[in-house]
Formats: sequence, structure tokens, C-alpha cells
Amino acid sequence: MTWRELLWGADSVTAACTFVPPAAEAVCEVCHASTRQGRRRCFACFRTSAQVTMPAEGVVPISLYRTGDNLWHALRRYKDGRDPRLRRRLGRRLGRLLSGFLRRHLACIAPGVSPDWRITVVPPTRRRSQRHPLEKVVRRSFWLRRRYVRTLRTATRPSHNAASDTAFKVIRDVRGLPLLVVDDTFTTGASVQSATSALRLAGAQVVAVVVIGRVVNSDATPEEAELWAAATRTPWRLNRCCREGG
Ligand SMILES: [Zn+2]
Ligand SMILES: [Zn+2]
Repeated sequence: MTWRELLWGADSVTAACTFVPPAAEAVCEVCHASTRQGRRRCFACFRTSAQVTMPAEGVVPISLYRTGDNLWHALRRYKDGRDPRLRRRLGRRLGRLLSGFLRRHLACIAPGVSPDWRITVVPPTRRRSQRHPLEKVVRRSFWLRRRYVRTLRTATRPSHNAASDTAFKVIRDVRGLPLLVVDDTFTTGASVQSATSALRLAGAQVVAVVVIGRVVNSDATPEEAELWAAATRTPWRLNRCCREGG
């Protein structure tokens, strides 16, 4: 599939998704990327979850992707694309993907969640951005819009590799609030772990963390190449998630 087909095709964002393996031998128990032999976590998760006080113990990626893939283009251009029509189109598609995924898998990713759960997003960390593209994606879906709350603002721009309890500031009372935290991409976990820890320290009950894409660098290590090869052998389906046995 070409990039142009991704733009104009009917179901192209879902066609660009790649299977996420359940946590297992050689699959990180936090982010579902590859681990070195005998390790339960990848190096990035090992590091970023140790940098904050109350990290997320598990993250649910909807898809894996590689830099340069169609999903990578979609996840960049829905916020940075020059053409506003393109941004809207990709935003709609990502919104449908997120909404469809959460409808099907809420029971797997947040079993027993209280019916008054709310959804929030990790804010953009680029200082120049006043827009909140992922918030718009969530709010495109009627049932998610009713549950959406803005809880965080970027305080100190978190570095790519370092998570911190103070990278985001909690801007409303979240004590006791059952919250599903969403981010668009996961690379090292610095943003997701910073946001989760800030919310939990403020008293929120983070019931699950969902990211649309977990980036995989299949050139980095043989383990990562192996994980990617295995993932692409299994077709991605919306009715399957990495919390089920497969
Ligand atoms: Zn990991
Ligand atoms: Zn599921």
C-alpha cells in the first residue's frame, strides 16, 4: 500500500496496523517490544519506569510500527501535516481506530473498571504547539467525548529518554478518578510514564494506558528484528488485542 492510498483509501489506517504480541518470553511486559533473553522488560521500559515514582506497569499498544511505515506517516501527519484537510482526514481515521479498539477491548485492558471511568490524553510536549491534536481525535467519537477530561499540561518538556514526575502538571482534581490514559506513540515511554506518574501521584486511579503505536526498530537488535518478523506474520485485527492470548 502506498502513502497516497493511505490518504484516500476507505479503511487505510487499520490496513496500516501491525499485530502486537501478548507479553511473553522475549516480549516486554510493559510495552510489548522485544526484550533481551531472560529479561521481562525492554531496556527503555526498565529505565523510564524507574525514573518516576508511580509508573504504568503495562501499556496497551493498538499496533506496532516502524519509522517510515504508513502508520508512522499517519501518526505524524495528523498533527504536523501542512494540509488541514489531510490532518482532519487522518484524525478521523485515527479516532475511529481508537474508538473501535476501546469499544471492543475495554474489558481486556481495564477489567472490572468502574462505569464512571474517564479518558484523558498525554499533552503534546512541543512548546510551539498550542493545538491538542490527540484530544481532538478522542473527541471525534461521541461516546468518548462524553468521558473526556483534560487533566495535564506540559510543565517541563520531557526529554526523549528521561521520564519525570514533574514533566506534566495536573490541572484539575483527579483524586479517585478512574482514568484511561491515551497517547499516540510510544518510543521510550518517557512521556507515558511521566504522565501516568503525575496522575497517580495526584490521586487518580489509572486503569489502563493505551497507545496507538509502539515504534519498533527492526534494525536495532536481532531480538527486535525477530519480534517484527513474527508480528508481521500474524494479520492485525481490530477484534484482537495484546491482552488476550492471541
Ligand atoms: Zn518495554
Ligand atoms: Zn482484547
